[in-house]
Order: sequence, then C-alpha cells, then structure tokens
Amino acid sequence: MSEAKTILVTGGAGYIGSHTVLCCLQAGYEVVVLDNLSNGHREAVERVEAIAGRAATFVQGDIQDESILDRIFSSHVIEAVIHFAGLKAVGESVQKPVEYYTVNVGGTLSLLAAMERAEVCNIVFSSSATVYGIEAPTPYQESLPRGTTSNPYGASKAMIERILEDLCVSNAGWSVVNLRYFNPIGAHESGRIGEDPQGIPNNLMPFIAQVAVGRRPQLSIFGGDYSTADGTCRRDYLHVMDLAEGHVQALGYLGNKGCHAFNLGTGTPVSVLEMVHAFERVTGVAIPYQIVERRAGDLPEFWADAQLAETALGWSAKRDLDAMMEDTWRWQSANPKGFTSQ
Ligand code: NAD
Ligand code: UDP
Repeated sequence: MSEAKTILVTGGAGYIGSHTVLCCLQAGYEVVVLDNLSNGHREAVERVEAIAGRAATFVQGDIQDESILDRIFSSHVIEAVIHFAGLKAVGESVQKPVEYYTVNVGGTLSLLAAMERAEVCNIVFSSSATVYGIEAPTPYQESLPRGTTSNPYGASKAMIERILEDLCVSNAGWSVVNLRYFNPIGAHESGRIGEDPQGIPNNLMPFIAQVAVGRRPQLSIFGGDYSTADGTCRRDYLHVMDLAEGHVQALGYLGNKGCHAFNLGTGTPVSVLEMVHAFERVTGVAIPYQIVERRAGDLPEFWADAQLAETALGWSAKRDLDAMMEDTWRWQSANPKGFTSQ
C-alpha cells in the first residue's frame, strides 16, 4: 500500500481550517496543523481528531516564524499546503493596516520562502470573493479581473493572489489553487465543532446564533433601503462542510501546474431578512432585530457563478439553507460559549 500523503494546514485550529482538517483526515491524508491560536482553539483540533478517529500533528506557532516552518518541512514529507492562517476582520483591518499586511502578506511570504527551500510547490490558498472588488458585475465569474478592494483585508487577499501568480510565472513547477470563498456558515453535523468568534461577532450568522442563545439582546440589520426585493443585502451563504470538501477536491486538482482560481459558493443569493426568517423557521427560536444604518463598505448584493468549480473540480455545494441553520443551531445550543462551554 502507498504511504498516505501529508498536508500542512496553516490556521487549521480556526473555523474553516478545523472542518477542512476533518475532511482531509477522513479522505486518508496525514495532517500537520500549524496555528498560533490567536483566533483558533486547540480544543477544535482535539474534537476533530475524536470525530475522525485519527490523530493530526499539532504545532503551535506562527507562519512568520521561519525556523518553525523549516522544522516542519524537514521533519515531514509535505505534499501540499492548505493556507488558512491570517487575520480576517474587515473593520479591524481598516484600523490596523500594518498588522494586516504584515501577518497576511508577510506571513504568506515567509511560508512561500520556506516552501521554496523545502521544494514543496503545491498550495491551496484561502482567498475571498472580495477580490472581485466593488464594481464587479454579479454573479462573479473567475474570468473577471480582480477589482478595487475597499479595505486592507481585501487588498491583502488580492496581493497574495498576485504573488502566487508571479510565483507560477517564475517556476513552472508550482501548482496553486486560489479558492475564492463566498459566505461560509454552519457547522459539522455532530455539533462538536463550529464558529467561535472572539468578542462581538462581525458576521451575520454567528451574531444570529448568539442572539438565539441569549448572549446578545437583538440583531442589528445594517440597512433596509438597498435596491433588493426586501431592502436588505444579499449574499451567497454556503455550508462550511461543503467548503471544507472543496479543499479536498482542490488537493486532487494540484497535479495541474500553474495558478488557478475557483469560486466556492452556491450560486444563490439570500437576503439578511431571509436568513433571519430561515433561522426562526428551522429552529423555532425568535430573533428580535431592528433595522439600523447601513454598514460602511457593504455591497448591496453579490453571489458566485459556481460553474467552473463544478466543471474543473467536480465540486458543487450540496447542503441547503435549512441544513446550514440546523447545524449552526446544533453547535451553538450545545456550546453556548463556544469551545470554553464544556
Ligand atoms: P479563523 O480566524 O477562524 O481561522 C484562522 C486561523 O489562523 C486561526 O485559528 C488563527 O489562530 C490562525 N492564525 C492567524 N494568524 C496566524 C499566524 N500568524 N500564524 C499561525 N496561525 C495564525 O478564520 P476562518 O473564518 O476559518 O478563515 C480562514 C481563512 O479563510 C482566512 O484566511 C480568511 O481570511 C479566509 N476567508 C474566510 C471567510 C469567512 O467568511 N470566514 C471568507 C473568505 C475567506
Ligand atoms: N449583517 C447585519 N448585521 C450583522 C452582521 C452582518 O445586518 O450584525 C449583514 C451585513 O450588512 C451583510 C450581511 O449581513 O449584508 C453579511 O455580512 P457578513 O459580515 O456576515 O459577511 P460579508 O458579506 O460582509 O463578508
């Protein structure tokens, strides 16, 4: 029997990373997680191991630390890297641009330099729909150029995509998949792992879930006067397990040399009010809300053209909005304070 391939997952103790580590373990890969736990949880990896019935190797450390990276690459035969590690709060990135560019762009450069030293040239990168920029027509298609990003977080994702493209031009041995995520929500169906943001959630779904368990009094809906049917913004929400499975498909695609970008979304936009009503219908829990001022920088609506991922990766989102709501609620109600609940 051939040896299992080993994948380095940076940021594997975080929300999307932990679900992806689970899918990789279940697909038969060996996994090394590198995470500095600035926003992730050791407990998340332990629960993933329990669900999978297999262990991962956990290394607590920073992607900017070249000695840790070199140690990982010299002590494991790494086939490919899935790179999640980074800072992701849009509003905070406006306040702390130097920190965001240092960690996201600088950290990625450290990682890529270590990969070059180790001659590992396969990487799947966590990009974002935000790279299409503020003027892009919907649905977003991969053939569109990257557009004008409106904050340092989005700009850091666009810069990293550009760096990865330049790397592929410099050396035909590189194989890069930029996965442009739309709005991941939900949790593993066991309810054992899920999204556990620190402080007040910035994103809609964890905010709704925290209102439902009584940690927040009500939801503020940012703007009710957009040019959409019900006046609230529309986004393409996809189940985090579908997204995680997309990474396993992307690993299989890495035999294709060069730089490739794929949207991971459902292709269907849903409004904020529709999200609230879907959560209430599926869980039976009322979500008090009020409509307040628009949030600076929000686009009225965007969603994915998800065709290319289906054609090239054989991936499409399978789980519907009800499953996203059910699984969010199973996780949040069993772990009202996140990973510190038990
Ligand atoms: P997360 O914060 O839960 O996970 C990121 C992980 O990286 C955390 O565990 C954190 O501790 C770790 N980390 C941060 N800086 C690090 C460093 N310097 N060294 C080592 N580890 C570090 O976020 P997430 O929602 O799971 O997102 C994962 C990736 O996907 C991020 O790159 C994010 O920008 C991207 N992304 C997320 C979304 C979303 O809606 N959640 C959308 C598009 C793209
Ligand atoms: N939103 C909201 N209240 C909140 C958080 C988000 O009304 O407390 C809205 C936000 O204005 C956007 C949508 O929900 O229209 C999705 O926001 P989120 O931050 O989850 O994702 P984004 O698409 O902005 O990355």
